[in-house]
Amino acid sequence: MAQLTFVGAAGTVTGSKHLLSSNGKRIFIDCGLFQGTQDIVALNSVPLPVPAAQIDAVVITHGHVDHIGYLPKLVRDGFKGPIYATTPTRALMNIVLEDAAHLQRHLKKRGFHEEPYAPPPFYDESNVQQTIQQTQTFDLEKPFQVADFSAIYKNAAHIIGSAFVSIQVEGKRITFSGDIGRYNRTLLYDPTPMGEADVLVCESTYGDRVHPPDALAQLGQTLAAGVARGGAIVIPAFAVERSQEILLSIGQLQRQLLALANVPVFLDSPMAAHVDQLFSDYPAWHKPVAFETDGKPFGCSNLTVAIETEQSKAIANVKGPHIIVSASGMAAGGRVLHHLHNHLSDPKATILFVGFQGAGTLGFLITNGAKTVRIYGDVLPVRAATGIISGYSAHADRNEIQQWLNTCTSKPTYYAVHGDPVSAQSLCDLVKMKYGWDAHVAARGTTVTI
Ligand SMILES: [Zn+2]
Repeated sequence: MAQLTFVGAAGTVTGSKHLLSSNGKRIFIDCGLFQGTQDIVALNSVPLPVPAAQIDAVVITHGHVDHIGYLPKLVRDGFKGPIYATTPTRALMNIVLEDAAHLQRHLKKRGFHEEPYAPPPFYDESNVQQTIQQTQTFDLEKPFQVADFSAIYKNAAHIIGSAFVSIQVEGKRITFSGDIGRYNRTLLYDPTPMGEADVLVCESTYGDRVHPPDALAQLGQTLAAGVARGGAIVIPAFAVERSQEILLSIGQLQRQLLALANVPVFLDSPMAAHVDQLFSDYPAWHKPVAFETDGKPFGCSNLTVAIETEQSKAIANVKGPHIIVSASGMAAGGRVLHHLHNHLSDPKATILFVGFQGAGTLGFLITNGAKTVRIYGDVLPVRAATGIISGYSAHADRNEIQQWLNTCTSKPTYYAVHGDPVSAQSLCDLVKMKYGWDAHVAARGTTVTI
């Protein structure tokens, strides 16, 4: 009998790691880092149920760090098997894991390794390079072999290269959603219909919520109000794709709103600049948007891309209204911390979050009304206007997950993963009621028989 163990992203939204075992073969589906509060980050140090050297293969759904960030540690600890990913995901893994290793080294050097938002110094660039060497690529809709099992990737529409994966084990089809994206998006094509599944392991990040309908209008209003306040507008944004979507929207708004026409825009994230390149390298994996028109990446005018540290520092000297898009999206690290340190206490400034904020992250504290926060050891009063727009999420909301579940042609046993407990339970209840499936919230560390 095949067995499935929920090692991560069960009760949390990070640390995605599912262990599938059958006939002495063991594979991981995703291998992500736990991120967020100190308690959650500490889960990265919990030993795996099986030693790394005894894992036969790893199947990756997409290149977010909470799905791939543990891979170099697995490799460092003795995993020698193949890692499978789509072609853009492999390219993204290179960017994201290099950044993760760099961040760990940087934080350690600066003595911030006790910083609760920082990942632990688990690995270095050599482990990352070994990880990339072990990674083989497969396109969507092309069956491939993983240990003794047959697998197939289908478009998940979450970020560039993202896939959900169906794996045939002992005559049963087990589908892992990875992270499911959205319908009718600017950059990506819709998720592929699911088809038949005997077991469905499904994300539930927004299982109890619905995204507001018009994110672009909301962004326009917030930016116009921010310009009127007269200070900086800091937008913490994930380097992977969110930054690109925000630039695309700012470009559209610059043509619609006179107030924004001449406001300087800074993209302060070397990683985001690398991700920009992926859209150029893999045109078949996204809708045909102008990657670069007249020197305007994603159609955004007045844009300066800061790659070098000196370019990043120079942004602090800019006076008057300006927009800074910088990573990380939950303000859990990265250059955006400098900008928040500079502007959080300025009543003229605006801090605008554009994605999910994990419990305990700086973004979570700010968007939940914290009066003071600590950055680089300094306690700062929050005087800037703050806001959050969830309409840019790369995750399907409750209705969009249903839209995807409607494309299932069988009655699978259902496990809700990758959600906080309330969200996962809410989706689980809905699945039982609406579809009559045998539905469960996956608990970390538990094993079920397939
Ligand atoms: Zn993701």
